[in-house]
Amino acid sequence: MSHKFVYEFSEGDASMRNLLGGKGANLAEMTGLGMPVPQGFTVTTEACTQYYADGEKINDDIRAEILTYIGKLEELTGKKFGDPDNPLLVSVRSGSRASMPGMMDTILNLGMNEAVVEAFAQKTGNPRFVYDSYRRFIQMYSDVVMEVGKAYFEELIDEMKERKGVKNDLELDADDLKQLAGEFKEEYKSKIGADFPSDPIEQLFGAIRAVFRSWDNPRAVYYRRLNDIPSDWGTAVNVQSMVFGNLGDTSGTGVAFSRNPATGDRGLYGEFLMNAQGEDVVAGIRTPLTIDQLKAQNPAVYDEFQAIVDKLEDHYRDMQDMEFTIEEGKLYMLQTRNGKRTAAAAFKIACDLVDEGQISPEQAVKMIDPKQIDALLHPQFDADELAAAVPIGKGLPASPGAASGKVVFTAEHAAEQGKLGEDVVLVRLETTPEDIEGMHYAKGILTARGGMTSHAAVVARGMGTCCVSGLGEITFGPKSFSLGGETYHEGDWISLDGSTGNVYGEAIKTVPAEIGGYFGRIMEWADEFRTMKVRTNADTPHDAAQAREFGAEGIGLCRTEHMFFEPDRIAAIREMIVSKTVEQREAALAKLLPMQRGDFEGIYEAMEGFPVTIRLLDPPLHEFLPHDEDDIVALAGEMNISLDELHAVIDSLHEFNPMMGHRGCRLDVTFPEIGAMQTRAIIEAAINVQAKHPEWDLVPEIMIPLVGEVKELAYVKKIVVDTADAIIAESGVDLKYLVGTMIEIPRAALTADEIAKDAEFFSFGTNDLTQMTFGFSRDDAGKFLDAYYEKKIYENDPFARLDQTGVGKLVELAVDLGKQTRPDIKLGICGEHGGDPSSIEFCQKVGLNYVSCSPFRVPIARLAAAQSALNNK
Ligand code: PEP
Ligand code: MG
Repeated sequence: MSHKFVYEFSEGDASMRNLLGGKGANLAEMTGLGMPVPQGFTVTTEACTQYYADGEKINDDIRAEILTYIGKLEELTGKKFGDPDNPLLVSVRSGSRASMPGMMDTILNLGMNEAVVEAFAQKTGNPRFVYDSYRRFIQMYSDVVMEVGKAYFEELIDEMKERKGVKNDLELDADDLKQLAGEFKEEYKSKIGADFPSDPIEQLFGAIRAVFRSWDNPRAVYYRRLNDIPSDWGTAVNVQSMVFGNLGDTSGTGVAFSRNPATGDRGLYGEFLMNAQGEDVVAGIRTPLTIDQLKAQNPAVYDEFQAIVDKLEDHYRDMQDMEFTIEEGKLYMLQTRNGKRTAAAAFKIACDLVDEGQISPEQAVKMIDPKQIDALLHPQFDADELAAAVPIGKGLPASPGAASGKVVFTAEHAAEQGKLGEDVVLVRLETTPEDIEGMHYAKGILTARGGMTSHAAVVARGMGTCCVSGLGEITFGPKSFSLGGETYHEGDWISLDGSTGNVYGEAIKTVPAEIGGYFGRIMEWADEFRTMKVRTNADTPHDAAQAREFGAEGIGLCRTEHMFFEPDRIAAIREMIVSKTVEQREAALAKLLPMQRGDFEGIYEAMEGFPVTIRLLDPPLHEFLPHDEDDIVALAGEMNISLDELHAVIDSLHEFNPMMGHRGCRLDVTFPEIGAMQTRAIIEAAINVQAKHPEWDLVPEIMIPLVGEVKELAYVKKIVVDTADAIIAESGVDLKYLVGTMIEIPRAALTADEIAKDAEFFSFGTNDLTQMTFGFSRDDAGKFLDAYYEKKIYENDPFARLDQTGVGKLVELAVDLGKQTRPDIKLGICGEHGGDPSSIEFCQKVGLNYVSCSPFRVPIARLAAAQSALNNK
């Protein structure tokens, strides 16, 4: 048989997620469990990949297979596509392996045309419902398949309502809706230049193509980049026979979670609307009822639903997010998936499932997305300031956290200003998937419409961004909104409390988050399972202490040049840089020595005996040379040299490519006294702290940066060893220390066997290694990388996510070569990638001993390292 591209729901199961997508696999699984699922079939993700391979065409084989499955569905349902007497109507939905809000969502009622609706209206005796469904179909199809846009149709509805003198869509009658359907088709023709397709098969292939196409729209591409989803996964398409929630008052539709997605509390949680189709609930056009009201209204359906929910939870052993429809009193399940949840809920649910005996601690650790931890560590409002503030309104607490920022009204503005580092709050009527980039950059999101399951709420929760939704009292004016009797303009400050739904018309100070007991339990398990250590990149005693609180087991990188950013210190380091003679430099170094020694003592203390890697000075000169004339005058005075002389030195130090300039070990090669001073500070501090804490066994790790040749390493190492040994001998204590290097220049990776002769450890500096392997500057790449993402040359920022194909190959090579020379060489990573989950997985695979990242990413790294260990068991 040729390759199979289509599966009936009864042919699949949950294990086929990669092929059928999440939605398709779960529909198949529910079918297998005997649940009431309207039947249908799934066109596979491989068909999507094939569509792109064929130059964005559905090839003849796939087309024929889809037609065969339409035939099977007709047989199964006893209905026929396009048959006025007994029409088959279907929904078409996208569904990839990971749920992706950027893609095409749903087309309902596909299969309708003039003849079908005419007969259907008669048969059901409910022409209002039929014409409502028809006009919705034309609208959705025009929007998502032909990309006509929604706005024109909304205008036509508004005009119709005005003509009829009514406010609500529900007040339009069958004739009005029939007329609207006609107007919609006219609109379609005027925009597309052809009649609205009446052939259901043509409609179906149009819809399937649209789903495939939506896999590659800019929103989906952006979402994939944000969530590490590869572009070659493709999306499946689910074609499912329709059931109707808008058949009258005994019909309805809803969405529900098996546990509260904001808090994790047990119990059904959701919303529904009677006499409505699915989009009405999520679009926030009508305000839905809570699920307990279904219990009061229709206890039989509620009980049946509750039983299904319990069965699904037991089956999937995770919190479920479900869509259902009631058609004339009969319940149908349209979807189930593991529900998105807040970080706090994720930790509680995982612990509860362990306590309920549903999952093991290993599974609990694996089920949490490490990136979600960010949200837990996010700020809350300062309690005193909050107590003094008076809310101007209250919406739904859609995504927790606290946000304070300037009002913006469009996603573009939010992205623009967010990129400039401005704190902004995005205020919208409702959000749509187009807004995703702006939502990402906003500190908080406030919407006038939409329930807890609206787009804004779901997406914000996923991102860990604070969100208040459904604040209906908001009225919008030109570039302004009014609430609580006040008007707020673009640029005014407001604050949102995503945990209570309160909105404040002022800036409120935020304070760092506190992490609770569930978090601690999961992290304890994670620490048990992981095999890699997690260290931190910290340059001050304060950061080091913070990182210890987050569980860091040492410092993987202390950037000594960062200890000199404060105004009273930068003068001393500038003096050192511009010194022309050894005497001048030694005078400057003498000023620096006590500062460094003091800092190192503080860092050793904060690290409580855990290993500390201190890197010799690596200042890109452009960051440290004085630019301001005032600073230059002051420096000349301090050094007792003429202004002209100083200007001449500064000019002579100018570099065209400072990132590839006189930095790292090159400084020590030219000015050995710098390395000697730093070694003295490192060793003396260790001797002092060791004396205070005999229970610790301090072994300072001295790291030499930017090495590309073993001889330059050997040269600098000799300075370090001569200095250290002399100090230790003089002190009479038995202090051990290690000397190692960073692997951050491709040549160092390529010659790692030689480098390892003189290095007791390697730490991969993947920031520079990425810069130098790609050949683009860390400082400037941002200016053109966007074009690379748009053109799909790169899917991710290689500075954020390790390029495993290229840079990773160098890392692997260096690991192998290093171990050949020194089998017990200690291996770590200290580039930004050390805090990125997918890069951490790579580090596990190539056998690094530890990862090192900024303090706030330490918990992320602990969890990601545990998952990597479990996945690679
Ligand atoms: C690196 O290059 O990866 C590194 C950690 O050093 P820096 O970022 O200080 O250049
Ligand atoms: Mg570097």
